[in-house]
Amino acid sequence: MTLPRPLRDPLGFLWSAFNIREVRLVLYALIVAALFPSSRYILFVIIGITLAIVWFKNYRKTGSRKILYFFGAVLLIKLGYFISYYDVTSVDEARIIKRPWGAGISQVLDGKYVGEGQGFRGPIKTEVEVKNNRIVSIKTLEYSDLISVKDNQIPVFQREILEKGMLVRPSEPEMFRGATETLTGYVNAIASALAKGIPDFPEYSVSSKVFLETFFGKAPDRVTINALAILFAAFMVFEYALQSMLTPGTGRSINCYNCASCVGVCPVKEVEGVQMPMGLVLLTRLGDYDRVMELSKYCVGCGRCATKCPIGNSGPLVISAAFQAARQKKLEQGIGSEKETA
Ligand code: SF4
Ligand code: SF4
Repeated sequence: MTLPRPLRDPLGFLWSAFNIREVRLVLYALIVAALFPSSRYILFVIIGITLAIVWFKNYRKTGSRKILYFFGAVLLIKLGYFISYYDVTSVDEARIIKRPWGAGISQVLDGKYVGEGQGFRGPIKTEVEVKNNRIVSIKTLEYSDLISVKDNQIPVFQREILEKGMLVRPSEPEMFRGATETLTGYVNAIASALAKGIPDFPEYSVSSKVFLETFFGKAPDRVTINALAILFAAFMVFEYALQSMLTPGTGRSINCYNCASCVGVCPVKEVEGVQMPMGLVLLTRLGDYDRVMELSKYCVGCGRCATKCPIGNSGPLVISAAFQAARQKKLEQGIGSEKETA
């Protein structure tokens, strides 16, 4: 029994998968999603759309049913969303009664609690100490927002809380960029710390937490935009690096912009109705290696095309790849006919 290719030749399988542009995009998106949780939602949408396009194309070309996986995944995500939405809404309603705001501090047991909120540029972490139903100290453990906001807004707000001994609404922040987000993140960090001191504080179910964390991560913010910019840059860099290569064993150029820069510098320019070397690139992409080998005698090997092509194609490169691919093809055919005879 012949093993499936991923088991027989895992490295070769991975390499051929990596040669598919859509697979590369999904891979970059997954790396960025792992590094920047707040960009997950947008990146999963990108991955979903990419796979839907690839599978839909396959369905049109070969009748492959993989597109059904996409619809199945969408249905599962919708189901997960509705279950989580119901859970989150009912927990939020229950939390209103147990809110640690204002006089709600009377429910919080004595102790030190750590909580987290989302600021303008990242997470904000605080440690809040409660004694005899009063907030007696607040420590900022993590804070990545603007210094100017911290210096102008946070201490004022802290003093207000400590004077009153309870969590109050902050006054309207001054007009610093991101000040509102910072203050909201700070308030949420304190509120979430206090909530930990309330017995039986309503919590979201584990399945909702896992679902929201996996698919949405944190709410999109400024970091998300940066992550997407990094994804785009990585994609461009890798694509440009890879486009200058030929797909191993096929002799087919991954890309050609048909810009004809190579034709402009080639001393041969056109033979037998084929523009040199752009036509050779096209023929190799189509897999017509015999024609490329026939026309190769016209190339004088001057290398001028290599200096002009924006993605590194050249007549000699394409010709040698076509010879190799043709040889490989013959070998495979030979092995195939040997097997048949046996
Ligand atoms: S190497 Fe060949 S294809 Fe390239 S410019 Fe010279 S003659 Fe033309
Ligand atoms: S210069 Fe490169 S990209 Fe432009 S037509 Fe020639 S082979 Fe294609």
